[in-house]
Amino acid sequence: MKYVIVGGGVAGTTAAEELRKLDSDGEIILISQEQHPLYSRVLLPHYLKGLVERERVFLKKESWYEEKNIEWLRGVEVVKCDTKNKFVELSDGRELPYDKLLIASGNEPRVVDGDVRGVSYLRSLDDADHLKQLLNERKKGDPAAVWGGGLIACEYLNLFVAHELPTTIALRGQHFWSKNLNEEAGEFLNEHLRQQGVKILTEQKFLGVEGEKELEGMKLENQKVECDILGIGIGVQSDLGWIKDAEIEVDRGVKVNEFLETNVEDVWAVGDVAEYFDVVANRHIMFGNWQKAMSQGRVVAKSMAGERSEYQQVPSYAMEILGLDITFVGDVELAAADKVLVRKGDEHGPTLMLMRDNKLVGAVVMGRNSDRVPLTKVIDQRTGDLAKVMNWQGIDQEILA
Ligand SMILES: Cc1cc2nc3c(=O)[nH]c(=O)nc-3n(C[C@H](O)[C@H](O)[C@H](O)COP(=O)(O)OP(=O)(O)OC[C@H]3O[C@@H](n4cnc5c(N)ncnc54)[C@H](O)[C@@H]3O)c2cc1C
Repeated sequence: MKYVIVGGGVAGTTAAEELRKLDSDGEIILISQEQHPLYSRVLLPHYLKGLVERERVFLKKESWYEEKNIEWLRGVEVVKCDTKNKFVELSDGRELPYDKLLIASGNEPRVVDGDVRGVSYLRSLDDADHLKQLLNERKKGDPAAVWGGGLIACEYLNLFVAHELPTTIALRGQHFWSKNLNEEAGEFLNEHLRQQGVKILTEQKFLGVEGEKELEGMKLENQKVECDILGIGIGVQSDLGWIKDAEIEVDRGVKVNEFLETNVEDVWAVGDVAEYFDVVANRHIMFGNWQKAMSQGRVVAKSMAGERSEYQQVPSYAMEILGLDITFVGDVELAAADKVLVRKGDEHGPTLMLMRDNKLVGAVVMGRNSDRVPLTKVIDQRTGDLAKVMNWQGIDQEILA
């Protein structure tokens, strides 16, 4: 049996590792665009803050692949796939036949026009090395800016403030995570950031970067923000071109069912690239998350080895932004909820409870990380009906359609 895995991140590498446990003779080929052995993206911000040494971010040694008899092709990418004749084509021109194919190609940051020194993205270890160098060159008091309002934008704020760089953030909407936070939660977060000394510019349009070779500023529609380091955190996108060309169904990501199967036989997808059918949410969702990518890698390996297995786990994500904890649990897309219950903010900040068909399907919690476990349980067991949630969370009758 010949297994080909596209993407050497946590989802693909976990799948390869599990496959080797389940099939000691099969040929496993792991194709990785990056040069590094598996490392933790989660630890990159810690490495950048100087809390973790660079070598500690690696989760596998180079020798591991050979020890496990996994053929690791690094520094090449899959550019084409022929699902009828079952082979993939690599960027170096080689063609690799497969019996079973796994797509675990993750995603990449969205980029802006303008390539001057001082502009930073944060997805890979190479990005982190570059950012570390930029930060080392800056001194306390140098102006910094961030464009965007999601997870990576938060990481930039944490980093820039820790380096004592006065920071301005420009947001396209009124607040962070416009798809997941309502106005009250968004304003609570904005106010928290202002109190930490961050300047927030809302409803902005980004026109480009200023500077010849070195960054001098960020051009917005009505103003220029002077900065000599700029973090771009405007979300991610997957390279779906070659996948779509192979007639594998894609939408926002590669569409898979609860068994992580695509519409094409013997082709699966997992991790950040997968738009998977979440049996608890009862719809397809995308949720970029380390733990989920790893669990999906484990589950899909079983299926690829012949034991068809369903993936079921309520995803959750917790992070800290300048001292405020924010936790996302389950299906947190406001537009997909038919009711949003709001527990008013106290010193902790508001909690949003997303309901669909009279069941709790997701929650966004500010300042109360300890709610993560009980919320996950209620969503998972589908026991959160309206009355229970209102009573349990002390919701004061505030129901937004
Ligand atoms: C800075 C940062 C901090 C984060 N912090 C957290 C956190 O605290 N908690 C959390 O849960 N999650 C966090 N995440 C998200 C988490 O890291 C991702 O959800 C997870 O890494 C997804 O794993 P993956 O294997 O699906 O994709 P990836 O890790 O993106 O791996 C996919 C790999 O496939 C390669 N590839 C792409 N296309 C091809 C191709 N055509 N051919 C060959 N190879 C290809 C890519 O180069 C990449 O190496 C963080 C992410 C970042 C960037």
